[in-house]
Amino acid sequence: MINHFYFCEKYLDMEKIKKMFCICIAFIFAAGCTKSSLSFTDSEIELINKYSQQKMRVLIYNNESDSLILRQQAKEFSIADLQSDIFKSLKAQMLLTVQDTTNTGVGIAAPQVGISRRLIAVQRFDKPGEPFEFYANAYIVYFSEDRQTGAEGCLSIPNIRGNVERSQTVAVKHVDMEMLKTRIDTVSGFTSVIFQHEIDHLNGILFIDKIHPDA
Ligand code: ZN
Repeated sequence: MINHFYFCEKYLDMEKIKKMFCICIAFIFAAGCTKSSLSFTDSEIELINKYSQQKMRVLIYNNESDSLILRQQAKEFSIADLQSDIFKSLKAQMLLTVQDTTNTGVGIAAPQVGISRRLIAVQRFDKPGEPFEFYANAYIVYFSEDRQTGAEGCLSIPNIRGNVERSQTVAVKHVDMEMLKTRIDTVSGFTSVIFQHEIDHLNGILFIDKIHPDA
C-alpha cells in the first residue's frame, strides 16, 4: 500500500514536471516571437509617414538637435521590421533623398534622415548599371591593411570636402533582406569607401572626424 502510494506521488511529480516543461517551452517560444516583432517606435513611424513617398529632410551636422541623432549609435532592426511596410517606405524615401537632383549623393544612412537605425544605401559602382543597394544591420567585420586616400563629402555636411584615408577592402556583415539571413560581402575600391563612410554614420562618426591633415 505504502509502495503504491509512493508510486502515485512519483507519477504525479512526473506530470508536474511535464507541465512545467510545456510552460517553459511556451515561454521560450513567446520570447522568440517578441524578438521578431516590430520594433519601430511611434515617433519613427510618424516621421517616416510624414514624408510618405517623398524625399526626407537631411539632418545637418551643425544643427544642435540634428547632431544629437547623427552622433548616436544606431539600433538594429528586428526580422519583422525588415518585412514591414514601414521599412519599405523608409527605403523608398531614403532612395528619393539620396537621388534628389538638387543634392545628390552616392550613399546615405538612415540616421541622416532622422531614423537612428542600422540601414544604409550604397551606390554599387562595382556592379553593372551602378545600382543603389540597401544593407540592413550593417557592420564592417574586416578592414584591409592596405589603404587608399580620397576626397569625401556628405549630404549632412554641406560645402565641406576633405581627404580621408580608408581601407582598400572591407568585409560587410549584414542581414540579407530577401533571405533574412546574415551575409558577409567583401568590397574594394571606391565602393568600399562609400560603405566605410555610411557605416561610420551608423556608429555616430562623420568624415570630418577623420580628415587627413597632410593629404
Ligand atoms: Zn555622410
